[in-house]
Parts: sequence; structure tokens; C-alpha cells
Amino acid sequence: RDISSKDEDDITSDNNVDTALSSSVADNNVMPEPFQIVSIGSADDKFAFTFHEDKLNLIMQKIPPGWKVAVVSVVGAFRTGKSFLLSWFLTYLHHLTTSNNEKEEAELVDEDNDGVTKQKWFETIDSIGNKGFHWRGGKERNTTGIWMWSQPHFVRNDKGETMAVLLVDSQGMFDNETTMALTTSIFGLSTLLSSYQIYNVDKRIQEDNLQQLALFSEYARLAVQADSTEQEVVLDEKPFQTMEFLVRDWQHFEEEEDYDQMEKEMADYLDQVISEREAKDLQETREQIMACFQTISCFGLSHPGLDVPKKNFQGEVAKIDDIFLNLLDRYCRRVFSVENLKPKIIHGREVTAVELGAYIKAYAEMFANGASFPEASTMLEATSAANNTNAVNMAIAQYKDTMSRIAGPKCNNYIRPKELQDDHRQLMTKSLAVFDSVATFGSKRAIEGCRQTVIDQLNDEFEVYASLNAGRNPLAGFETYAIPLSVAAA
Ligand code: GDP
Repeated sequence: RDISSKDEDDITSDNNVDTALSSSVADNNVMPEPFQIVSIGSADDKFAFTFHEDKLNLIMQKIPPGWKVAVVSVVGAFRTGKSFLLSWFLTYLHHLTTSNNEKEEAELVDEDNDGVTKQKWFETIDSIGNKGFHWRGGKERNTTGIWMWSQPHFVRNDKGETMAVLLVDSQGMFDNETTMALTTSIFGLSTLLSSYQIYNVDKRIQEDNLQQLALFSEYARLAVQADSTEQEVVLDEKPFQTMEFLVRDWQHFEEEEDYDQMEKEMADYLDQVISEREAKDLQETREQIMACFQTISCFGLSHPGLDVPKKNFQGEVAKIDDIFLNLLDRYCRRVFSVENLKPKIIHGREVTAVELGAYIKAYAEMFANGASFPEASTMLEATSAANNTNAVNMAIAQYKDTMSRIAGPKCNNYIRPKELQDDHRQLMTKSLAVFDSVATFGSKRAIEGCRQTVIDQLNDEFEVYASLNAGRNPLAGFETYAIPLSVAAA
């Protein structure tokens, strides 16, 4: 009997490619659309923060088990062109998929980029339309919240590694004092769930844009604390991945149409914004941001042309300024490139869709329950609680995967109870090793409690497997019992 369990990634990735293929095929008849996963306002409280778990699950279920997930999220003030940008992202991803149409996952390396002058991807369509993220029409207050594209995109990098990509639109107000706490919550949740966060700003990066980001600095401090109290085990990494300022209607270009030079100007601009300021608090804000994000970058898009903001603009490509389109092309290639598009990492580990779903749920509940921005320790607690839950699930999945193979309901072979006990013990050790490798931060007591849950649940599972096995005993019913002498004599 082979009780060597597959490694951690394999447990959940059975038939993954098939699922990827079938999920996109099955969805061909359903038009994808943005799903609202967080909404603001209810009948009795217009500022209530509501998480729509059912909608999130519908999206996550489309991702094959075991696949890693990149989350590209755009956040910023109303009517600054976020949805318009996301609709272009959808068009670009669609182009990547169809230009490699013999494969189901889009290659992240675009073959258009081979130096041969061909029609550019954005020249192949007449209009961006309004079927993606709805980018025009009045953005009413009730659309505030977080939206996720209902259909994940599946991509493959140059090494042949596959992952899912989720696109998120975070609509906050950023302009109304009374809702500052909600605005901050939306911003906060978007930062926690994304691997590539795009902070869309109008014309320039302002001090309040930077302060929004500095809110996480305490979390970052806790997360990187080298040695904490007995209670806590923590890691030593910057907690968040990419934060990119996307400046719209960029007015700083000196050298128009030399795109490499323009990108250099963007980087210089960021350096200038980030560079040390004399005032101590301004300098602190910058240091705090640097401690939170592994990469901080900046890109600028020029004004798209006078027709674009007009009411009657229908997304016609011919009406959009050429420089804007060329910069947009470069931007799409940059965001969806092998170098930049990375799976979401939480405390040092790339997470799968199921795990990410658990984190998003924990974070959303944390924001839904609090009247203001959660304390850093609450955020770390929610993260470690979700991490512990994921560790428990992975450990149990590991055990059941192998046990079902050797003694599950579909097995025909009877195993001697002593041997089954031995298998159980060995598998328990392996499962606890999986648990220990995942549950690596947060309160030691909470980790210990979850470890005990794994042990208890595996013992319960074993009872079931043992009785299934007993039912297959060919001698069942024919056992002879040793009768104690005293009883026999009586
Ligand atoms: P959102 O509220 O941030 O999602 O903004 P939308 O994407 O819905 O766009 C709001 C308005 O701005 C629409 O009329 C767009 O046509 C227009 N728009 C889109 N991108 C840009 C841009 O880069 N600059 C300007 N000035 N307007 C834009």
C-alpha cells in the first residue's frame, strides 16, 4: 500500500488543468460582469459595510483547486477613470487569450511585441464599449464598494506556470468628510486583498494619497517585528506587494512621444515625491509607506483627449488621443507582464483561491464589525486566524486524501487493524507537519488550539475509516471469542 502522500501543492491540484478548461468553456454562454463583493448602505444604515460572500464564492469556485491567484485592484476617487481603465485591462487580457487561441490560458508574453510592425491590439477594435466595468453614466453613491470581475482570467508565464488573475474595482468617495471612515475601509480592504494595487490619482500624487497608505504602517511594523512577546510569532517581510500610483491626465511630460523617456520621467517624479522632506511628519509618512510595500512605483497616462469625458462618448477608439493609447498599451504590458504580475502572497506564502477566499472573508468581517479603521493588531489577528483555518483545512485534506485512497468507501481491500493504526499514525505526523509549515504566525495559543483541532478531527476521521475497513473484513461474523475460564466453568 502506498501511503506516501502527495506534496502540499498536489493535494489540491488534482485535475487542475481540466477544470481550468471546463470553467472557461462552461461560462461561454454567461456574459461576465462585475460582481459587487462589498456594498455600502442598507435600509437602516446608509453607511453599513456589507460583504457578499456568495458572490465572492461564485468567482473563487471558477478557479481550479490549488492554483495561485494574482489580484489587480484599482482604487481611487470617483470619476477618475478607474472603470474605464479596467475595461481596457479586460480588452487586453481578451487579446492575450485570443492571440494564443490554441491554448486556454493567455500567455503573459505578448507576441505582438516581436519588433515587427503589426496592427496594435487596441487598433483591432472600434470601441471599448461599456460592457466591462461600467465606466460612464452617473456613478451614484449606491455604487460605492468593491467590485470583482465575475470571470477569472487564466494566464501562463514563460516558465509554463499557470495562475488566475482577478480584477477588482474599488469605488470609494475620497471627497466627503462624513464618510472618511468608510472610504478608508474600502481602501484598506483593497490593499489587503490585492497583489498589485493601483492607486489611481488625478494629475498628481498629493499628501493625503500618501497618508492613506501610511495607515498600514503599524500593521507593517507588527508584521516585521523580529522578536515579539511570548504570545506572538511573526515574520520578517514587508506585508504588501506592489503599490503603483497611476497618475491620470499627467501634465509633467517634457518629452512627448519618446515613451522610454516618458517612463523615466514617471520614475523621477515618484522619487521626487518620495524623497525626503524637511518636515518630520512628512518624512515619517514616506518611511512608513516604504516599510509596508515591497515595490512602490508610478506610471502616468496623458489626457485621453477632449472627446473622452463628453457625455456622448461611446468608447470609440478613433476619438481617443494617440499618445494616451500608446501609453495605455505600455501600461497594460507592464501590469500583465511576467516580471510584475505575481500571485498574492500573505505572510510569505503564495495563496490559492480557497485560501484567499478565507482571508478576504476574515478581512471583510473585520471592517464590517468596526466603526473605524481596524487596529493593526486586529488586522494581524484576522490574518493569522484565517491562516490557521487554512492550515487546519490543508492538514485535514492531506490526511483524507491518502486515507480515502487506502481505506475509503471505494476501497475493496481489508487492512489488518494494526496496520491501519500505523498508517494513521504516520499520516497524522505528515499532516501536522503541513499544519506547522503553514501556521507560522500569530498567537501561539491560537496556533496550539488549532493544532489540537487537527489531532481531534483526524482521530474522528480515523474512527470512520476504521469502521469502513471493519465492514470489509471477510471473517466478520465468523469470529470465535475466547471465553474466560471462569465463565466457561459456570
Ligand atoms: P471611475 O468612477 O473612476 O470608475 O470613472 P469612470 O471610468 O467611470 O470614468 C468617469 C469619466 O471620466 C467618464 O466620462 C470617462 O470617459 C472619463 N475618463 C476616463 N478616463 C479618463 C482619463 O484618463 N482622463 C479624463 N479626463 N477622463 C477620463
